Amino acid sequence: MKNCPNCSAEILDNFDVCWNYNFSLSENKIIEIKNSQEKEAREIDCLRCKIPMVYTGL
Ligand SMILES: [Zn+2]
Repeated sequence: MKNCPNCSAEILDNFDVCWNYNFSLSENKIIEIKNSQEKEAREIDCLRCKIPMVYTGL
């Protein structure tokens, strides 16, 4: 366990980014995390009928 230098929250050793402000310990700055994967999943069209599928999170 280590502590974030930005907000002193506890971070697991195998994590490199503080979840509070996306503070990267390796880059020593707040980074932007893009949820591109999540966004893509929401914008997938049905392969058969081409109707946009609704991402349910399941
Ligand atoms: Zn932090």
